[in-house]
Amino acid sequence: MRGCDAVIIGAGPAGLRAGLRLTSISSSLSVSLIDRYVPWERPIPCAEGVGRLGFEEAIEVDPAWIRLVVSRANFYAPNGACVSYTDANKGFIIDRARMQSDLAEKLRKRGVEITLGVKVVRVSRVDKEGRRAVSFDKGEPLSARVVIDASGPVALLGRGESICWKPYDLEPAYFAVADGVDAADDAVHIYVGGKVAPGGYAWVFPRGGGAANIGVVVGRNQIKGVNIRELLGDFLTKNYPKAKIRTYFAGCIPCGYRRGNIALPGLIKCGDAANATNPISRAGITEALMSGGLAGSAAFDMLSAENGKRTKKICADYEKAWLEKRGARHLKLAKAKDSLAGVPDEDYNMAAQTLSALSSDKVSMAKIFGLSLSRFPRIVWAMRHLM
Ligand SMILES: Cc1cc2nc3c(=O)[nH]c(=O)nc-3n(C[C@H](O)[C@H](O)[C@H](O)COP(=O)(O)OP(=O)(O)OC[C@H]3O[C@@H](n4cnc5c(N)ncnc54)[C@H](O)[C@@H]3O)c2cc1C
Repeated sequence: MRGCDAVIIGAGPAGLRAGLRLTSISSSLSVSLIDRYVPWERPIPCAEGVGRLGFEEAIEVDPAWIRLVVSRANFYAPNGACVSYTDANKGFIIDRARMQSDLAEKLRKRGVEITLGVKVVRVSRVDKEGRRAVSFDKGEPLSARVVIDASGPVALLGRGESICWKPYDLEPAYFAVADGVDAADDAVHIYVGGKVAPGGYAWVFPRGGGAANIGVVVGRNQIKGVNIRELLGDFLTKNYPKAKIRTYFAGCIPCGYRRGNIALPGLIKCGDAANATNPISRAGITEALMSGGLAGSAAFDMLSAENGKRTKKICADYEKAWLEKRGARHLKLAKAKDSLAGVPDEDYNMAAQTLSALSSDKVSMAKIFGLSLSRFPRIVWAMRHLM
């Protein structure tokens, strides 16, 4: 069987970042990157919104990846009342296809073998030589000393081993890219409410020139009896009746987080494959880039490990690093999420009415919390996990 040092499964943000980190630490490793598709030649199921600070921390940003800079988030309560939150740090709507194809090109130039259009069907357990076999839907398997699984939420690789092989709290999302959308271009727009998106939210993320990505994500516990396509249709008819739909897409978001193994000897999970997404905002691009970076470092350490004891320590250190970076916060958010989903619509309506009376530059998270504390105890009770 043909062998290499490392196989990376998935040319999404997590896999590409892992490859960049690994090859920046050592240029002499043989690394193979596999994806079942050419991701940048397909519509990427994503609204492409990121906070500037985290994104810039996670990757060296090329200005060509930025579609728009946004400075506000408009939150709409179930009754339509809008609270506008201005973020001095701003955010970006990015062009993921461009970013991913640029990063893949960078890896290719560093000597990474990139194979697109091939699906990984299995990763074996580690053998006596400390290697794992990666099997494909076509062609010969490949053996590697380390496999980085950055395959997103649904490939279920590592099944049967004591690792997070499946997504926690997988939520369905349905969205459209549309033109003729009458929404401010310098803001992202978030709508909540039992009728709009039970247990989740609807979003409108502008793309410039009147185009926007408009979608709905619904809570896993609230999806029963809900037709998500109808939900999006109703939302569009009510709020953006002039929108001209280019295409519809479906996707799913792993929105839960628990403590548990995300690495074993010879197998490291990152990005959505490691449930790295923020459970409440459902943002996962920056998180995938960050966890991919950590996975790349852990892979290099594993390749240099002198014995099994050291390898186990590297797995534990990788998990700890993720916990410190985002995991501990995600644990709290995952707990708060269910409680927030249980807050009645009228509480959000009242909270929004109170906050919308403030000018947008005065709406801070502290203000939201302070006002809620005195007037809307059910919201505060739901947010107790964040404290
Ligand atoms: C509708 C929707 C909207 C979203 N909007 C946002 C947003 O605005 N902002 C944000 O930050 N996050 C958003 N997210 C989340 C974000 O898209 C993910 O968290 C992010 O893509 C995770 O990156 P990743 O590299 O871990 O996985 P992915 O981007 O899913 O990449 C995984 C790659 O692995 C490949 N692959 C899968 N299985 C196999 C296999 N068996 N063999 C070989 N290759 C395989 C796939 O083709 C894919 O290219 C959204 C998600 C959805 C579904």
